[in-house]
Amino acid sequence: MYDLVIIGSGVTGYSAAMYGARLDLSVAVIGNVDGGTITLTDDVANYPGYIQLTGKELADKIKEHALDYPIFTEMGTVIDIFRDEQNFFYIVTENKSFLTKSIIIATGMKERELEVPGHDQLKNKGVSYCALCDAPLYKDKVVAVVGGSDSAAKEALLLAKYCPKVYIIYRREKIRPEPINATRIERESKIEVITNTNVTEILGQNKVTGVKLDRPYNGSDVLNLDGIFVAIGGIPYSELAAKLGVNLNEKGEIKIDRSSRTNVEGVYAAGDVVDSEFKQAITGVAEGVNAAYQAYKYVNENEFIFSCRQEE
Ligand SMILES: Cc1cc2nc3c(=O)[nH]c(=O)nc-3n(C[C@H](O)[C@H](O)[C@H](O)COP(=O)(O)OP(=O)(O)OC[C@H]3O[C@@H](n4cnc5c(N)ncnc54)[C@H](O)[C@@H]3O)c2cc1C
Repeated sequence: MYDLVIIGSGVTGYSAAMYGARLDLSVAVIGNVDGGTITLTDDVANYPGYIQLTGKELADKIKEHALDYPIFTEMGTVIDIFRDEQNFFYIVTENKSFLTKSIIIATGMKERELEVPGHDQLKNKGVSYCALCDAPLYKDKVVAVVGGSDSAAKEALLLAKYCPKVYIIYRREKIRPEPINATRIERESKIEVITNTNVTEILGQNKVTGVKLDRPYNGSDVLNLDGIFVAIGGIPYSELAAKLGVNLNEKGEIKIDRSSRTNVEGVYAAGDVVDSEFKQAITGVAEGVNAAYQAYKYVNENEFIFSCRQEE
């Protein structure tokens, strides 16, 4: 029996674990990708305390800090979750089950796929979701990034270190990176931004040769490319929360209050999976710490009831 089980081994999950253990809770962290999404970037320059480091370095530091406390970690995927009649939670992975008094859901998001013809056949044959992982494969090649967020801009900047030409294709009027990255994009002559345009098809047989656009660019609705990097946001991993009766918004994000509480007592949530507008490492970390504090209060306020139930 744990006081607190955290589902998700990203920066949010490990920060929550660190704080929960600091508050003397018995804590377990279950996750299937150690370090989570931040490990996909080589440039984090907005996490207080570190002027610049890679995402992997940041994730490792946060994990190392958490594991300075007696935290149990389990690499695995949670496949089921339920609450018993005594109000304890069961969390089931492929190999184990965990019993706990409280839960923090810090499961993040999966990447949103570009749903156009050609995508499924050419995924990993020129269609990629991770510039950090794949950019070296496109050295001296022409590529495009689809998306207009700060993450998309950073993917393009990274690719420009390897590729002579990087297009950013975005459906709206203006891309919306952080100002510092907007300036970098403007100054990078290898990057060309195509706005008000959608990709309607990915072209190629066994590898990407180009994309079809919904309006002509430089007189053609086909853009010849060797690779396409998709960065169009994510879909929250909130199915487990929904199973517990946690309220989600229309995007499937977990609704939390300012203290990271969900509508279900004993269930807290934080990070990319929740309904906060601004999703960054620092915001997830703060929400995770709030969640851990609320779990601590919940466990302590209900300790007498919990101990009676355990004796039954
Ligand atoms: C390209 C890119 C660049 C970015 N750059 C920055 C930046 O410079 N600065 C910044 O602050 N933020 C940046 N971000 C955003 C940042 O990465 C996220 O906000 C942050 O990593 C969210 O952390 P998280 O722990 O909430 O979620 P995640 O990191 O996604 O972690 C969730 C974890 O839960 C696990 N999980 C999910 N479902 C289950 C399950 N059923 N069972 C077990 N485990 C499960 C996942 O595998 C993962 O390990 C960037 C994002 C991207 C994509």
